[in-house]
Amino acid sequence: MAAKKTSTAFEYAPAPESRAIVDIKPSYGLFVNGEFVDGHGKSFKTISPSTEEVLAEIAEADEADVDNAVKAARRAYTRVWGRMPGSERAKYLFRIARIIQERGRELAVLESIDNGKPIKETRDVDIPIVAAHFFYYAGWADKLEYSGYGSTPLGVAGQVIPWNFPLLMLAWKIAPALACGNTVVLKPAETTPLTALLFAEICQQADLPPGVVNIITGAGATGQALVGHPDVDKVAFTGSTAVGKAIAKAVAGSHKKVTLELGGKAANIVFDDAPLDQAVEGIVNGIFFNQGHVCCAGSRLLVQESVADDVLARLKRRMATLRVGDPLDKNTDIGAINSAEQLAKIRELSDIGEAEGAGRWSPPCELPKHGFWFPPTVFTNVTQAHRIAREEIFGPVLSVLTFRTPAEAVEKANNTPYGLSAGVWTDKGSRILHMANKLRAGVVWANTFNKFDPTSPFGGYKESGYGREGGRHGLAAYLKGGVEQ
Ligand code: NAP
Ligand code: MG
Repeated sequence: MAAKKTSTAFEYAPAPESRAIVDIKPSYGLFVNGEFVDGHGKSFKTISPSTEEVLAEIAEADEADVDNAVKAARRAYTRVWGRMPGSERAKYLFRIARIIQERGRELAVLESIDNGKPIKETRDVDIPIVAAHFFYYAGWADKLEYSGYGSTPLGVAGQVIPWNFPLLMLAWKIAPALACGNTVVLKPAETTPLTALLFAEICQQADLPPGVVNIITGAGATGQALVGHPDVDKVAFTGSTAVGKAIAKAVAGSHKKVTLELGGKAANIVFDDAPLDQAVEGIVNGIFFNQGHVCCAGSRLLVQESVADDVLARLKRRMATLRVGDPLDKNTDIGAINSAEQLAKIRELSDIGEAEGAGRWSPPCELPKHGFWFPPTVFTNVTQAHRIAREEIFGPVLSVLTFRTPAEAVEKANNTPYGLSAGVWTDKGSRILHMANKLRAGVVWANTFNKFDPTSPFGGYKESGYGREGGRHGLAAYLKGGVEQ
């Protein structure tokens, strides 16, 4: 059949990935001491945000369940894992990494269903980087004496992660912790527990000693009980700045070491000498990748005034080709918003942006009838004072500001309580170095954006948190010689 002509050139035939490869059980218990057990508490449902279909009933861990998990982790630490030579621990990590690769398609499909993100991203970004993290830290397990932080682990790590990269955030937390000889109790986000529970099965398949990894599901109260448990030696948290601050207060004055990976409001800075078509690709990747549910998303576009109109025209043309819809369709660029709550937050802040006088634009696009959706959106005439320029929207919404000189770009980029990442687009190497030195951001990408590699440390300044994940620096958070906090 001939392709029907539309304003975006042509329509795509759907190319849905089969979900037959995943076996979602009607209900899940908690993963404690190497097996799935019933919780003492209540349960909750996880849904597919693209259809609102209920996927499974999930146990909600209460304080007694958290205590059991921490006890299992302590036993495993004292009796097995904390004493095992690094070369032996490495074998388990390599095995887990290989199983993740072997079961990659299953993990990718499950992540897309539970989170709403496009299969193109889970398949080509999330899962390969998850495996790479386990491979990378497996390599460190028997070389910790060269880390610069000694080789003595901390003990039991309590880890709490968000819903935007469920399995990737798990890998960032669990791989370095285990490589250094710690045991873990991890709580995934309430809306995205399924890949963490499949990871628990992978731990069983890898014959990981019981209690080394424990997965407890639940809401904020479960996370609070975990970080507050007196026998946890290390708290690792990724999530919002508000909850991060509450956790910092809760553990202040205790023996616990803490790392916090929090929110962001990154500037993506385009100079007039940049290759503009590539820059437009980088702007699109920076804010529309993963529906903009990215802590380091390039949510503030700073464009040099002399090319602002040109860049905006090219950006709008490109945005009109983005395909929003079924996360399992291989053509999809933008999937579903993760939850009704998150959609309400995005809508509220976007409406405020309009009320404050910014110009709002989205390409014409038909959104599915069920599920949670938001079109790719750009705001122009934004000033530093606008709330959309200051607050994290955590959705596919871009604010455009202009600048005239590099000094003005630096000042505007740094005028935020956050400091996680930034992007610089220019033809001049010297300008890249100049900007990288001036920008108060943990990561500065040059002529690219949203690149993640396990060998490279990632983390924030200011209210984006403290501590680094990834690379040699990531070991510091899990070794006695490496923690300054
Ligand atoms: P969130 O509300 O702070 O939740 C994060 C995790 O903490 C979830 O597992 C949550 O459980 C749990 N939690 C909630 N209240 C808690 C409490 N009082 N004590 C302990 N745990 C608690 O964040 P989110 O909305 O899920 O995630 C989005 C945020 O994460 C954004 O701000 C984003 O920038 C940030 N993020 C940062 C990074 C980074 O590396 N810097 C990476 C990814 C995301 P529930 O699931 O039940 O809410
Ligand atoms: Mg879900």
